[in-house]
Amino acid sequence: MEKKNIDWSNLGFGYIQTDFRFVSNYVNGAWDEGVLTEDANVVINECAGVLQYAQTVFEGMKAYTTADGRIVTFRPDLNGERMEQSARRLEMPVFPKEKFVEAVLKTIKANEAYVPPYGSGATLYVRPYMFGSNPVIGVKPADEYQFRVFTTPVGPYFKGGVKPLTIRVSDFDRAAPRGTGHIKAGLNYAMSLHAIVDAHKQGYDENMYLDAGTRTKVEETGGANFLFVTKEGKVVTPKSGSILPSITRRSLVQVAKEYLGLEAEEREIYLEELADFAECGLCGTAAVISPVGKIVDHGKEICFPSGMTEMGPVTKKLYDTLTGIQMGTIKAPEGWIAEVK
Ligand SMILES: *Cc1c(COP(=O)(O)O)cnc(C)c1O
Repeated sequence: MEKKNIDWSNLGFGYIQTDFRFVSNYVNGAWDEGVLTEDANVVINECAGVLQYAQTVFEGMKAYTTADGRIVTFRPDLNGERMEQSARRLEMPVFPKEKFVEAVLKTIKANEAYVPPYGSGATLYVRPYMFGSNPVIGVKPADEYQFRVFTTPVGPYFKGGVKPLTIRVSDFDRAAPRGTGHIKAGLNYAMSLHAIVDAHKQGYDENMYLDAGTRTKVEETGGANFLFVTKEGKVVTPKSGSILPSITRRSLVQVAKEYLGLEAEEREIYLEELADFAECGLCGTAAVISPVGKIVDHGKEICFPSGMTEMGPVTKKLYDTLTGIQMGTIKAPEGWIAEVK
């Protein structure tokens, strides 16, 4: 199969239309079979549930070429499971995770020409999502829904080398206790836009959100989970019901224990104890781990010993091991790699 003529290593993170996307409709209480289509536009009524009351959930994952030339994706079953949970919380019909994985693999296969070659650092980003599609004016769940999967090639995350991030402690809250912080829904992003635009204006890369209940504990950023390393080399991640359960973070914790022989713990982490940590990173599909060099809490700087030029040593080992597993150079745990055939 002939690849598209794209300068893979100079791609950014933007939307590039690819040839096919998957579409399935939920009408009269059932999902149809779904089809691949070349039509990239969605046509819905002006009063569609998603447009009025933001009834939409999504997922994000990547497809890439392994060292031995296979096209694969990472733990798509967990994305499918998470989308089921997100849908339930917003009173949307569940798109079954088995069908989700099938749709994802099918869409990647159809856009094989856009899957970047091994070693380019680029990947094919995959975006499954669903939304309420019929007119809804009184506040209630829609009756009809559309599930779609599209793909777009994206460039290497650490283009021009790794640059540790500077993060500020945000005065805004991301998620309420018992709210919707744990689901992957557009609504969690709409309300974070003001905070991130403001953070950028002030010279910060990201916002660290605290627990809205007490504002003493670390939650996450707008789109990535935190991972810390103690001075003793133990991996710790924040525990909270309002954090989005990152598949990358859960995988890194397993890698820490099973591949690196490190201790790992998920527990409440207080803002007060940040200065005791040796390393800090942000976990998510896009970067796997982005190192954090500095956290600024209203003028008070917390600088991690790993500094502002490179990843800390444990962060680096975690990064190398997980990306090795993804790229097929390190043996993956059973079921982590789904091959597109
Ligand atoms: C998607 C997302 C993450 C990262 O999850 P991954 O499954 O690792 O990609 C973290 N936080 C939020 C708020 C997210 O939406």
